[in-house]
Amino acid sequence: MSARFFFNLSPDTFTPANVDLPPGGYLLAPNNATPQLAELARQVRSEGLDLMADNGNFTLIGQVRAALSQESDALDERADAVETLLGRSLRPGELPERLQADYFDLSVRAHQLARTLAGTGEASLAGQLALDPTQVIGVEDITAACWLALDLERTYTGRRRRDWRRMNTTVARRAVDRITTLPNDLASHYYPVASAESYNTAHDAGAVFAEHGLTRISMGFGAYMADANYTDHVIIGRRRIDFAGRLPNRYTRTVLAARGFWDGYRSRAGHAPRAFHFLGLGAPIMLPLVALASGGGTALSFDATSPIKDAVRDGVLYVTTPAYLKIRIRKSAGWLASDPDRVWDCPCPFCTTFTKRFPFTYSLGHAWRHAHPDQDVTAADLRPDGALYDAYPLFSEPPSGPRRDAVDHARIGHNHWALEQILSAIRASADAGTLHAHVAAVVAAYVPTTSRPFAEAVTHGLRFATDELGEA
Ligand SMILES: [Zn+2]
Repeated sequence: MSARFFFNLSPDTFTPANVDLPPGGYLLAPNNATPQLAELARQVRSEGLDLMADNGNFTLIGQVRAALSQESDALDERADAVETLLGRSLRPGELPERLQADYFDLSVRAHQLARTLAGTGEASLAGQLALDPTQVIGVEDITAACWLALDLERTYTGRRRRDWRRMNTTVARRAVDRITTLPNDLASHYYPVASAESYNTAHDAGAVFAEHGLTRISMGFGAYMADANYTDHVIIGRRRIDFAGRLPNRYTRTVLAARGFWDGYRSRAGHAPRAFHFLGLGAPIMLPLVALASGGGTALSFDATSPIKDAVRDGVLYVTTPAYLKIRIRKSAGWLASDPDRVWDCPCPFCTTFTKRFPFTYSLGHAWRHAHPDQDVTAADLRPDGALYDAYPLFSEPPSGPRRDAVDHARIGHNHWALEQILSAIRASADAGTLHAHVAAVVAAYVPTTSRPFAEAVTHGLRFATDELGEA
């Protein structure tokens, strides 16, 4: 199985150490291509590396969301009140008629605004081609992504499957036309964007793209992963599967949408798509699950800004042992301080280079713990005047200057390196015919490290990736 991650192109990700990480590739949207990034893009190509030109629609989805989020929040409050009374998630058809009509109206307005901003869904094509890319994220109807970003769920709006089918049909048709106008090398590396919000709509999307003979496809997963809502059931075909309590949508939906797409595609084409790009998916625990859901036979690729945002803004680092986790550096600092035998021994080239230049001084942390036996490490402890600033430079938060640059660079590099370890384990186990066992072991290691709803969502995800799911 082929599985690769495209770095978001920036001076923090395009460095000799990153370039050495196989199999490599970078992603850039033309609307983000400052002169500096456009120059980096040229260097990417002259290094012989792949450059994927994103369609830039992520920005537009954000604009639609910003314009209508106040209204959708107000609707959500009303729906929450109904769910609180019921003591469970709403099922289709249970929302009071008036409220459903208001949800539907807002979904119409989101659709209109999406059309106004995004036009036919390929407004950036000229800008994309000007980047001289090796892969192009293609035509997209951003409506479905806007609905997700605004929590306009089908259960609330009352919309039918056929609305997604129609959008996907239009996009697939445009993609077929577009491919005939592209130069050969890009025509075979053009990834139109499918839309879905569930197993069923993804199944339809897969079927539609297969019927149009499209073999390389992408789909947005950022909105699924940004969803903070919970639900106590999912629907597959006409069957409702009830959970024991409410589970986070993001994990169950991500796996079901992937599985649905491949099931639908195979049902029409008789085989898997040749290539599939997961837009906005970089959560360590999800990569093995969606790889398993794809069932093999497809070249998989991923991109996400989350490894960068996590590293810099949120102070979160990815680890693969004892489980695939995102850990807060503050927690790591407290963990190191509490036991003289513990060290940060990450073997990645980024941590190794950084700690040579800015070594950890573990004794400072132990002394701090001795003086504060019951205290959690706070953000202030890791700032320049904080007690742990010099103990753990990799976890420290210099406001600016060369040390800040070094910290950002090391953490961003580390997170991407961890993702590469995860993908390399997927490739190796798939090649050995042991992908299912590998992913089951990843999930088994993850479950005891998290809260019950997340553990159950991931456990269901493992089943959804492989079980017989019945008719869609
Ligand atoms: Zn590292």
